[in-house]
Amino acid sequence: WIMSDPFQLAQRLQARRDQHLYRQRRVLESPQQAHIQCDGKTLRNFSSNDYLGLANHPAVIAASQQAAVEYGFGSGASHLVIGHSRLHHELEERLAEWVGRPRALLFSTGYMANLGVISALLERGDTVVQDKLNHASLLDGAQLSRGQLQRYQHNDLGSLQQRLQQASSPVLVATDSVFSMDGDIAPLQDMAHLCQQQNAWLMVDDAHGLGVLGQGHGCLREYDLSLEQVPVYMGTLGKALGSYGAFVAGSEDLIEFLIQSARSYIYTTAMPPSVAAASLASLDILSAEPWRVERLQDLIGRFTRGALAMGLPMMPSSTAIQPLLVNDSERALQLSAQLLERGLLVGAIRPPTVPANAARLRITLSAAHSEQDVDDLLDALASK
Ligand SMILES: *Cc1c(COP(=O)(O)O)cnc(C)c1O
Repeated sequence: WIMSDPFQLAQRLQARRDQHLYRQRRVLESPQQAHIQCDGKTLRNFSSNDYLGLANHPAVIAASQQAAVEYGFGSGASHLVIGHSRLHHELEERLAEWVGRPRALLFSTGYMANLGVISALLERGDTVVQDKLNHASLLDGAQLSRGQLQRYQHNDLGSLQQRLQQASSPVLVATDSVFSMDGDIAPLQDMAHLCQQQNAWLMVDDAHGLGVLGQGHGCLREYDLSLEQVPVYMGTLGKALGSYGAFVAGSEDLIEFLIQSARSYIYTTAMPPSVAAASLASLDILSAEPWRVERLQDLIGRFTRGALAMGLPMMPSSTAIQPLLVNDSERALQLSAQLLERGLLVGAIRPPTVPANAARLRITLSAAHSEQDVDDLLDALASK
């Protein structure tokens, strides 16, 4: 007896393998940190988004343990039904203050925050204009909404302007601040200016900027962007903050509107209070230890100078995300496997996460790396 396969899963999986696009998960046997245990081996981790080394920080762990003792583990229901604790509330207030906005609203993940915001704001006939390389969650938010999706060429103001002139209003423009697979930064001040001229709202996804740019406060601080310039800000807590979850920050009206209308906010269980406590502890560390952001910058500088001197085909980036363009997916897998043999964990990023024929090694740096880690990676890359 053979189970029927109307969706042709076996063929579709085989096609993925044939194209070197098949993905497999690595099973870790240690906390998320600069040096991890995997398959009984110690690997130097250049694949994580834990940019400040907070995911395994003792104070973050202690805060979540303490909160679990005080508040129990599960949150019990959605924020609106009964799941909103004092810790969730305090975290919203602290996040709003940290990024310089009147209010903030927690979401369980960044993916859900992006889906929730875009689908709540846009009604039939409205337009959302997005960078072609935006994170999947922003693009999926547009698909879920009743609005029209228009895409412009990556970081191209002329292309954005063209879309804006054709778009039926109201218009939301959405962009990553730091692009997750490229590491480059959107021209946010110019975009804000253009959006204000065209009476469009700008939404910025700062998943890779929060904790890294603006002394850790994110892109709004780095580029001095007012509430009028960026009415919708989204930040995540699972990357540089080493925790889990996300938030949207903006005006009183925006937040109240999302509480009433964002379906991925309303129809889901709130994050456990201990997770909120972990994020609060991360914020404490961020303000008490500005050296982490500076150290990350120093290591980024060390890596980019070294890579430049060796003539490596790096994509231009001044952030913690340093992609080395390989193009061919099979070759990217080979390089990643060779680095692994030398104890260096660097992910091969392939389509559909990146455009066709744009496979790359995505190297991420962390304040938890040593200078030796960075130098050893450069040595290994140079010998390829
Ligand atoms: C990771 C990421 C998200 C999703 O955040 P999660 O909290 O992991 O769901 C959204 N946008 C960008 C740009 C990201 O890199």
